[in-house]
Amino acid sequence: MHCPFCNAIETKVIDSRLVAEGGQVRRRRECLSCSERFTTYEVAELLMPRIIKSDGTREPFDEAKLRAGLLRALEKRPVAIEQIEGAISAIKHALQAAGEREVPSRVVGEQVMERLSELDEVAYVRFASVYRSFQDISEFQDELNRLAKGERR
Ligand SMILES: [Zn+2]
Repeated sequence: MHCPFCNAIETKVIDSRLVAEGGQVRRRRECLSCSERFTTYEVAELLMPRIIKSDGTREPFDEAKLRAGLLRALEKRPVAIEQIEGAISAIKHALQAAGEREVPSRVVGEQVMERLSELDEVAYVRFASVYRSFQDISEFQDELNRLAKGERR
């Protein structure tokens, strides 16, 4: 951490304590060059990564869009809203836990398919049939056969 007074690289931590009910670490630092002291606050960064679309453009992660996609796939299916919210939380957690600042939209799509395959097979096929660009009908049929046999990818 550079000294904000003289910009020297070497600073040492002289005190470190948890603040904000353990949500932050407050550190007193001293510059080894000019001996000035300063304070830093450290918080865990749990930001949602930005989404890299297939054309290479980036956009912010959009929870509303994710929810709309799931709801569309699960329309008229016997799945409780709590389960859908649980799936959204799990997807967000997986994206945050990966710790990447940007992830391809494909990764989000795969997460959605994984959750849908656990929630409801009809919704999974609906989503997958739209989401995946099936090369031909036989590929789609393979997908249905896998489901019929109870296999999960
Ligand atoms: Zn300094």
